[in-house]
Amino acid sequence: MKQREIFLSYGKQTIDEDDIEAVVATLRSPFLTQGPKIEEFERAVADYVGAKYAVAFANGTAALHGAYDAAGVGTGDEIITTPITFAATANAALYCGGTPVFADIDPVTYNLSPEAVAKKITDKTKVIAPVDFTGQPVDIDVFMEFAEAHDVVIVQDGAHSLGATYKGKRVGSQAHMTMFSFHPVKPITTGEGGIITTNSEVFYQRLKTFRSHGIAKTEYAKEQGDWYYEMTQLGYNYRMNDIQAALGLSQLNKIDAFLNRRQEIAKQYDNLLKDIPGIITPTLHKDVTSGWHLYMIQLDHKIKKSRKEIFNEMRAANIGVHVHYIPVYWHPYYKELGYECEICPIAEAWYERAMTLPIHPQMTGEDIKQVVKILKSVIESK
Ligand SMILES: *Cc1c(COP(=O)(O)O)cnc(C)c1O
Repeated sequence: MKQREIFLSYGKQTIDEDDIEAVVATLRSPFLTQGPKIEEFERAVADYVGAKYAVAFANGTAALHGAYDAAGVGTGDEIITTPITFAATANAALYCGGTPVFADIDPVTYNLSPEAVAKKITDKTKVIAPVDFTGQPVDIDVFMEFAEAHDVVIVQDGAHSLGATYKGKRVGSQAHMTMFSFHPVKPITTGEGGIITTNSEVFYQRLKTFRSHGIAKTEYAKEQGDWYYEMTQLGYNYRMNDIQAALGLSQLNKIDAFLNRRQEIAKQYDNLLKDIPGIITPTLHKDVTSGWHLYMIQLDHKIKKSRKEIFNEMRAANIGVHVHYIPVYWHPYYKELGYECEICPIAEAWYERAMTLPIHPQMTGEDIKQVVKILKSVIESK
């Protein structure tokens, strides 16, 4: 088998000279952290997604922890989410003493199924956390109807979907709170970083206090003097710093170019993969555009080789295929907590046949053709 010379990773950052200059300028400025870049970045992200407020965090996981805390998740409370996500979506509930409850996915979009969620709602449900898996927004209107009917908070995990749209509007203002991640493989990067966007002043204030040790400038503190502050709850040091925020601001200028390129790549994959029998390509819900963080295919039963064989042969040819994600409750930690193995049969069946193809803005047309050509020969060879 002909292989690529250089490994093609499934995702990676795009950093230009202007990003580097923005970071260097902040390194030369008086503030490395707790300076003006944080609020500038928060304002820019809030404006971009059309939300009133944004609170930046050290990473997306910390941001989820903050959102669940702001939603009031405590000991014994349940949060309902999908098993096909990065473990952090569920882990952050455990940080709060809460219990993740897993509901099955929709077999067409691979997103958390509203019907499956409806069956899992109980008196203990505090949060529903749907994930815009691969960058495809969830049907958020349906989840917001649940929120209304059951008095729960919707925390949308938009780690994959910055810039994606639902019914013509960008993700980030339709749920009670939306999380975005700025890890290097995500739509834009700050090295590590995350943010919560919200239209709620109450959530906004809680998130800010939680992020910084639980310290607030209370009325009492103001009376005491300028040095005075009060710690009103147990918080964390989950702050983003100005170096990260400067990088984020520079990256945000380019998000639409990144998204366009991802969309083109997805379209090219769709066209080229049509001709390979046994490959199921992604399907988008009619109301959305995707951020195309991931391009996931399914290997049909028609294909004689196992996923593992195909995966290993692709890797041997230097194509960085991947699998997103192992059902969260299959991890040993969750098993020890008592989770059964077969909670979500649709998700599990999907997982067994799923594979991630490389997609990131720097990929060329030649890269895409090469991925498809090698995949075709791997599938067809004995
Ligand atoms: C990346 C990711 C997270 C966590 O974000 P970090 O910034 O890496 O902490 C959470 N959920 C999903 C779906 C992710 O892809």
